[in-house]
Amino acid sequence: MTTSVAFIGLGNMGNPMAMNLLKKGYAMTVFDLNAAAAKNLIAAGAKGAASAAEAVAGADVVFTSLPGSPQVEPFYLDAGGVVEKAKAGATLIDLSSVLPATPRKIEAAAKARGLRFLEAPVSGGVTGARAATLAVMTGGDAAVLEKVQPLLEAIGQNIYHVGPAGAANTIKAINNMLSTVNACALMEGLVVGLKAGLDLKTMGDIIKNSSGNSNAIPRVERAFIPRNFEPGFKVALMNKDLDTFHAIAKEVHAPVSFSNMAQHYQQSALAAGFGEKDTSVIFSLIEQQAGLDNK
Ligand code: NAD
Repeated sequence: MTTSVAFIGLGNMGNPMAMNLLKKGYAMTVFDLNAAAAKNLIAAGAKGAASAAEAVAGADVVFTSLPGSPQVEPFYLDAGGVVEKAKAGATLIDLSSVLPATPRKIEAAAKARGLRFLEAPVSGGVTGARAATLAVMTGGDAAVLEKVQPLLEAIGQNIYHVGPAGAANTIKAINNMLSTVNACALMEGLVVGLKAGLDLKTMGDIIKNSSGNSNAIPRVERAFIPRNFEPGFKVALMNKDLDTFHAIAKEVHAPVSFSNMAQHYQQSALAAGFGEKDTSVIFSLIEQQAGLDNK
């Protein structure tokens, strides 16, 4: 019998992940608060649901890709939420990046109802989501991962079992801290170069082939040169991930510093009204602060 899948949260990441599962032939029901987000999936053969409860009602496996803990916790745990509405024996997989406490709470509630739960935050951006090359970090019972491994392989090539619930969102927050620190450092460096009269593309080409290279360098051609700051990965979401990183660091009493500078820039971008723009928009803020005319 074909595994039936519900997919809820069809944004920049959820939509291409759902599409890759659909392409593998799983019977799929989809739901997003923004109905337009489901259109291409319904056109490709998914069934549209009028509510989350309707979407999960008959599903063997429920996937969610929602912004963060404030959306994920009520979605699963409130009266009428997924833990209450999922069918007996279902497996629930949250792909969102959330506070480690969130999967711990959901796992306990799911187990109490005889359901399986796995946290499975992902990395690789929209490009990786489309290409099904995401890194998938899972936390929870290894036996649950074993059961859903083929479904996760539809969205990502590197699938890890990190530890108990909360472990995957811990490494996910560390990874995103590194990603944004690299990107912010690159943006500062490039603005120094621009002010010194260097060419943006030339700097990007040289850094790409030198020791300063990082995963941030494709932003030069993708975002900085064309001045394309559409997400991608929204400032508000990266700010939330840095909140998670700082919450973990505080809890374990570990000193951190670079992450504070990266969050300084996310906060500046939020204050400028750029929460829904890609994190690369910070480049334009650094240009402004450096007195460059970037209009
Ligand atoms: P997004 O804002 O593009 O999409 C979120 C979607 O969830 C939206 O379509 C929204 O309408 C929907 N939604 C919110 N609350 C809902 C609810 N209660 N019921 C149904 N739908 C609801 O965000 P995204 O970029 O797709 O990110 C999703 C998650 O993946 C976040 O946790 C993010 O941090 C993480 N993530 C994002 C990226 C990236 O590059 N964009 C990469 C890795 C991980």
